[in-house]
Formats: sequence, structure tokens, C-alpha cells
Amino acid sequence: MSFAASVLTLYPEMFPGALGVSLAGRALEAGTWSLDAIQIRDFAIDKHRTVDDTPAGGGAGMVMRADVLARAVDHASPPGDLRPRLLMSPRGKPLTQARVRELAAGPGAVILCGRFEGVDQRVIDARGLEEVSIGDFILSGGEPAALVLLDAVVRLLPGVMGNAVSGEEESFENGLLEHPHYTRPQEFEGREIPEVLISGNHKKIAAWRREQSERLTKERRPDLLGAQPLVK
Ligand code: SAH
Repeated sequence: MSFAASVLTLYPEMFPGALGVSLAGRALEAGTWSLDAIQIRDFAIDKHRTVDDTPAGGGAGMVMRADVLARAVDHASPPGDLRPRLLMSPRGKPLTQARVRELAAGPGAVILCGRFEGVDQRVIDARGLEEVSIGDFILSGGEPAALVLLDAVVRLLPGVMGNAVSGEEESFENGLLEHPHYTRPQEFEGREIPEVLISGNHKKIAAWRREQSERLTKERRPDLLGAQPLVK
């Protein structure tokens, strides 16, 4: 069964965007995953096809209407649809590789992209939307965040990445940042590839990489050191 993504957006033309090329694009063509970009405006109720209104209590900007969004969510995710319903949101739980893995192991995702100041709280509550953030910064809309999330998920789907092992050795998969990489030429502007990597001694190479991973993680992301490894 392939991974089915439904994205609710005011800008369906942003999809598949970057996911239409390279690994994700080929997997989309091959049917490993599917993508349905749904225009939220089609679920507006009035003749002007309004999707937003001024914030209750005043203030700047516009808020996406709960009634319009609920109709769109119900269309994309009818009763019995087991896919999680996500809302891209800077207030959400930060996306992690662990959550990405869970999503990739499931049937797909229904993803709501916010715009303006965000969405009426009542649709989040009434439809049980899981708020997901891609980092502590503000985008102009949820679409780039949805593309980021789907990119991370799709590359984990069976058959998408040629070499499955490379996925397991990457940053975060073992709770550490990845070691540095080198390739030819042997010397670049006077800098050599570390001796051990051309020694042919696989045990020593593995130990060196592990050391480097631990050093980088300690220096850059000490917060990860208490985290649970995802594999092994
Ligand atoms: N007023 C809101 C920001 C709205 S940004 C606030 O201060 O929290 C408009 C939309 O962009 C949001 O509804 C959300 O869908 C998306 N968005 C912005 N930043 C994001 C982030 N870091 N992660 C995920 N989605 C984000």
C-alpha cells in the first residue's frame, strides 16, 4: 500500500513543487506515494468564496475560518480514514526524525497548511488536528513546511532510497550528528583526507567515525545526548 498525502492549501500549484523531481519525483511517478493538493477555497460557503476573516478581539491580519476548514478536512479525511490529520504550525511539536519514521510507516497524512495569522482554534479542537512545527521561525504559509515534512517522509518509503543503509547512519538516527565525509581528490588545497579513512581498516574507521560523531554532537547539539536512539 502506498503512502497517501492529501494537502489542504490555498496554493495547490505549490505542489508537488520540489517533490516532483529527483528521488521523491520518481517515487511519485512510480506510485510509491501519492499527493492530492486540495484547494481550500472550494469549500467556502459564500459566493465570494471567503476563507478568512478578521480576528475576534481585534488585532492585525486575518484568521482562516473554522467552518470552511472543517468542510475541507472532512472532504479530505472522511470517517474511517486512518491517516493522521496534521496542521503545519509554528506552535506545534517540533518535527523529529522519530515522528517522520512513524509517519512513513503509516498509511499517509492529511496536511492542513495555514496562511495569514493562522487558523481558528475551534477547527483544531473539533477535528483533532496535530500541530507540527518545522522549527522556531515563522514562514508565510504552511506549504513550504508541508513540503519539508513530506520530503523527509518520502525518502524513507521502501524503495525510494537506493541504499537503505545510508539512511540508518545519518544524523539523528542513532541519536548523534553524523561524522564528516570526504571523497577524492586525496589532497584539496593542501588539506588531506584523514589517514585512517584510507587505511582500509574497517574497525578503526568505524571507531573514528563514532568518535567524530560524539565530538560533533557534544559541541553542537549537547541536547541530543540525552535522547533515545532510533535504531539499535
Ligand atoms: N501568527 C502565527 C504565525 C502564522 S504564519 C504565530 O505567530 O504563531 C502562517 C502559517 O504558516 C501558519 O498558520 C502555519 O501553517 C505556517 N507556518 C509558519 N511557520 C511555521 C513553522 N515554523 N512550522 C510549520 N508551519 C509554519
